[in-house]
Amino acid sequence: MQIQDTRAIITGGASGLGLAVARMLVAAGGKVALFDVNDAAGVDAVRTLGSAASFHKVDVTSEPTVIAAVAAAAAAMGGLNAAINCAGIGPPRKLVGKDGPLPAESVRRVIEINLVGTLVVSAQAAALMQRNTPNAHGERGVIVMTASVAAFDGQIGQVSYSASKGGLVGMTLPMARDVASLGIRVMTIAPGIFETPLLAALPEDAKASLGRQVPFPPRLGQPDEFALFVRQIIENPMLNGETVRLDGAIRMAPR
Ligand code: NAD
Repeated sequence: MQIQDTRAIITGGASGLGLAVARMLVAAGGKVALFDVNDAAGVDAVRTLGSAASFHKVDVTSEPTVIAAVAAAAAAMGGLNAAINCAGIGPPRKLVGKDGPLPAESVRRVIEINLVGTLVVSAQAAALMQRNTPNAHGERGVIVMTASVAAFDGQIGQVSYSASKGGLVGMTLPMARDVASLGIRVMTIAPGIFETPLLAALPEDAKASLGRQVPFPPRLGQPDEFALFVRQIIENPMLNGETVRLDGAIRMAPR
């Protein structure tokens, strides 16, 4: 797809990786609709992004809210051909820890946001995209999901997070197969450690130490580098049905 033609919903678009994708797309001439629970950050983001961006207060776990917001986003952008799923949470909790055994409710919340939320947004977006006039390559749209290297090498305390992200990896190929006949592609990115507000609570020396664990480049990833890969996914019609680690070759240790 031509990057300037992109009309993208970006979940988690008010912060971090999602916001970097929004900046990249608007700078390239595309339009974005940010879906996020954080309305203060969402309104702020739209103020800096300008008229090519809109904010929609959406909790991805609420299907009726997603349905209404997908329609509103398509109306605001004059179309919809990309869904970039970045909304996610990763509260650490061990299977058995100081607070006792891992409660089902805590597992469900992580799965609901990271896995089910991504599925619901992708399904609703694809339902609209299927009506697009295909481009010269026969494409009607693209879906990007954000997993994590924790899908493969989850650390201590990441059992729920790894399950949710592993779920995204597992559904990438069947989802791509489901929508292939509609001219829609599906790709998943598994980021290593990126410098976003998610890591803001960490002291500088802890961040530097994490960065040094990356074989090359020996530093944290920058959100713009994530956005660069999203751009390539949008532009390259052969990228489909696969999860790609974006991690500088890091393999996470148990802790
Ligand atoms: P972030 O906290 O900066 O951004 C996540 C955004 O998601 C926030 O704006 C938050 O308000 C929003 N969000 C949370 N729950 C939501 C919900 N129910 N509905 C809608 N929006 C919701 O984090 P980030 O670092 O930009 O992470 C983006 C994605 O990348 C997440 O899925 C995360 O798991 C994944 N990831 C991040 C890293 C990293 O190192 N930063 C590494 C691997 C994977």
